[in-house]
Amino acid sequence: MADRDVEITPGMQRYIDRNDEYLARRAGYIRDVVKKWRFDTIAVHGLYSVQDAIEDYQGSIIEPIFMSTSQAFRDSDEMAAALAYLIPSWTYSRIANPSTYYYEWALALLEGYGFDGETSCCSTSSGMAAIMTAVQPFLLHTRHDVHEPRNFLATAQCYGGTFQQFSVRLQQERDIECRWIQDPTDLDEWARKIDRHTRFLYGELPSNPQQGFFDVQAVADLAHTHGLPLIVDSTIATPALLRPIRHGADIVVQSASKTLSSSGFGICGAVIARKGLVTNVPIDALREDFALYIKYLPNRDYGPNLHPLQAIMTLNDMRTLRSKMDLMSRSTMKVSEWLERHPMVERVEYLGLPDHPLHGLASRYLWLVDAEHDDLYGKPVNRYGHLMSFCVKGGAGTTRKVFDGLERIWRATDLGRIKSVATIPAISTHQQQGEAGRKLAGIPPNLIRLCVGAEHPDDIIADLDRALLGAQKK
Ligand SMILES: *Cc1c(COP(=O)(O)O)cnc(C)c1O
Repeated sequence: MADRDVEITPGMQRYIDRNDEYLARRAGYIRDVVKKWRFDTIAVHGLYSVQDAIEDYQGSIIEPIFMSTSQAFRDSDEMAAALAYLIPSWTYSRIANPSTYYYEWALALLEGYGFDGETSCCSTSSGMAAIMTAVQPFLLHTRHDVHEPRNFLATAQCYGGTFQQFSVRLQQERDIECRWIQDPTDLDEWARKIDRHTRFLYGELPSNPQQGFFDVQAVADLAHTHGLPLIVDSTIATPALLRPIRHGADIVVQSASKTLSSSGFGICGAVIARKGLVTNVPIDALREDFALYIKYLPNRDYGPNLHPLQAIMTLNDMRTLRSKMDLMSRSTMKVSEWLERHPMVERVEYLGLPDHPLHGLASRYLWLVDAEHDDLYGKPVNRYGHLMSFCVKGGAGTTRKVFDGLERIWRATDLGRIKSVATIPAISTHQQQGEAGRKLAGIPPNLIRLCVGAEHPDDIIADLDRALLGAQKK
């Protein structure tokens, strides 16, 4: 991953040889041991082994939290080799760190679960930083001159922050055109909007909050026939329900602040990519190992790095991801079915409901990982996550009354929590983009977004019932 030529001294070569042995051992461990585990085992252990613990971390059974800015070296040869990226090292915590290393490996392995090729991961300080660092290398590279037109395609139904980043920061400020896809299930719309200046295709699925969805494999195939990568934000699904890289996507961005760290201790993100991705940007290192490329070069220079403490807190939450997603998805299904029957509810949007227009398509992709190996199920089962939304009859005023009447469910612009959380997107997450932007993204003012946590679903239903009836009486 070196970005310049360096002269290698004999002393440096000794370090390189020693580290090559280490890398070969690690590759063998991944191939022969870790890749053979089921999802839960990978989530619990990742790449942190008993051997690592005993040899390097005094036997600590939990991954180390290295709250240190930098690493000391034995001598100048080791330092020179490390700084030229010739040996695995961590050097300085803006670039790498042992705690973020284990977090990155866990996510690379979980997103790569069931995928034949190799994946790698770059941790970031937030989901927005993940999106920024995933898209910029494709956009900022100029083949001819800086005034060359550049565009990309993105699903209009997306997270409010993503909408701002693409429409204001990229389009308005840098004149890089974002071509919004109104109906991502319409392959012709994607195809029509690609031209020779297109750099990548981007899609969020399921989308937050509208439950948009598209055929990942078909869009990835389309992207690849044009030599372009497909980038997917799969924050809402998490790798417990969907692993887009297996279905052809090149890069996945995660806001790990959400369901991945359901306890809600802080903000963090990740970019996970297949090795050998498709792109028309002629940078070999980028194509060969995108996540390590951004980690060691652009992100070294921009600095959107993750704090080691946050990395381990998120890693700790991720260990139980599969069972939590199963429980919270089942509860969300129950709450959705109940809301659908409620006289004060205009409509419910949840991909798990059979009458949702995208239910069939989503059911092809959203499966609880390893359900077929689970004693409880013994066969594949669909799960649709814990984000849903519903529209209240009676307009924006009544909607706010219902929202204000919630007692158990927290009012916050948050989701993915172990605690149930609700928001009104039109006055919160999607407030900045204005009326026209909300229309484009399909956000009516009477929409309440609800993310069902791990409480007993009957208590959540009781809270909703009280709030809905209370709003009617007022
Ligand atoms: C929250 C969210 C983001 C942004 O992530 P942060 O960690 O808050 O920066 C991006 N995409 C989706 C789908 C989200 O829900």
